Amino acid sequence: MKQLLLATAALLSSPALAADTAALRDAALKDDLAWEITETLTTEIGPRPAAGEAEARARDWAVKKLNALGFANVRIETFDMPAWERGAETAEIISPFPQRLVLAALGNSGATPSAGITAEVVAFDGLQALEAAPAAQVAGKIVFVNHAMAATQDGSAYGPFGQIRRKGPSVASQKGAAAIVIRSIGTDHHRNPHTGVQVWAEGVKPIPAAALTLPDADQLARIFKRGKPVTMHLTLTPRSVGTRQSGNVIAEVPGREKDAGIVLIGGHLDSWDQGTGAIDDAAGVAITTAAAKRIMDAGKPLRTIRLVWFGAEEVGLFGGNAYRDRHRTEKHAVAAESDFGADRVWRFQTNVSATSAPVVTPKLSAALNPLGIAFGGRNGDAGGSDISVMTAIGVPTLELSQDGTRYFDLHHTPDDTLDKVDPEQLRQNVAAWTAMLSVVANDATELGPIDPPAAAH
Ligand code: ZN
Ligand code: ZN
Repeated sequence: MKQLLLATAALLSSPALAADTAALRDAALKDDLAWEITETLTTEIGPRPAAGEAEARARDWAVKKLNALGFANVRIETFDMPAWERGAETAEIISPFPQRLVLAALGNSGATPSAGITAEVVAFDGLQALEAAPAAQVAGKIVFVNHAMAATQDGSAYGPFGQIRRKGPSVASQKGAAAIVIRSIGTDHHRNPHTGVQVWAEGVKPIPAAALTLPDADQLARIFKRGKPVTMHLTLTPRSVGTRQSGNVIAEVPGREKDAGIVLIGGHLDSWDQGTGAIDDAAGVAITTAAAKRIMDAGKPLRTIRLVWFGAEEVGLFGGNAYRDRHRTEKHAVAAESDFGADRVWRFQTNVSATSAPVVTPKLSAALNPLGIAFGGRNGDAGGSDISVMTAIGVPTLELSQDGTRYFDLHHTPDDTLDKVDPEQLRQNVAAWTAMLSVVANDATELGPIDPPAAAH
């Protein structure tokens, strides 16, 4: 341990700064602010659907809280967006083995008549099988797409398996399906459906689209194995409710050097409607806020830290896009987001230029290694969903990767509640963010992205 601390000091350019970073990091292991924010948001506001009245109340609470904590330039930047609301959602097998199934509508799902629809079900193992199917096999039927997503520490299964949710409904509609039910994009075996957004492809007619719980998808697959035709009755009555207002809540820790650029951090304030959005993403706004507060209280950093509690992430990055449109001409030194639960950080990744990497990587390693966080390499996709739109315009990003092993057991389910947040792991997150901010907000190195923005190609 002593050798590690000596190595830590040697790797940082300024011995004083190294000591500050280590002290700030270690003090953050006793943090209570992140828990307090997570507990209050999930208790006093609860679920925070995008563009709804609870999200607006959460913004008002956030402004009061961030002002009380001493942040500068606290404000709400509103934007308009199309809103969608969940309705009734029931399903039952009519034949061959009559029984209820448990499901939840996917974001932007179309609706059945209030009495529901009854149709034969056609089953596919994965999106490719559905894509390969002739329209005649699908037309007029309820499509069921099964899959075999498994838990991974880095969450890498979500990209490919998530395509079933993101694209499956459009593919089914294009082939004339009456509706689609997918196996939830999750890894648990509880009878909780995982909702999530899907966006209709250009010109595609919305159809009813929902996610079955994993046990219900298993049940339906076993029923199919009996080899008899399967008929389902499905009722989904969500509706689009027109244009409504959402907003980003912004707060700052002003820096000493205006030209050094902004360190953009945050998480998203909105959540899905079924749980209370504790791990997705009250914890993320809480972790980043607690870390920024610690840097602020330690004295003015070199760079301005801008904290954003993004609105309306879940339904299509409306907050991230609104932020980019409004702030794209400002100099952003680097961006990072916390939006992968509340479990411990185990890795960091960087989307920085080849020239800055040898400067910044050793400093971050020295600051983070004592927390059990290893360097995971340079990665152009490092970051989070809200800041991905900043990556696209050439802003460098950092990622403090949280352990995702149990994230997709809870993600977008009624089980995303406060009791799933482990206070000790939450504190380790705050310590990691505090250490990372202490390094990048106090170092003038131009980080630059791995790749120039797409527009420059
Ligand atoms: Zn999220
Ligand atoms: Zn989410």
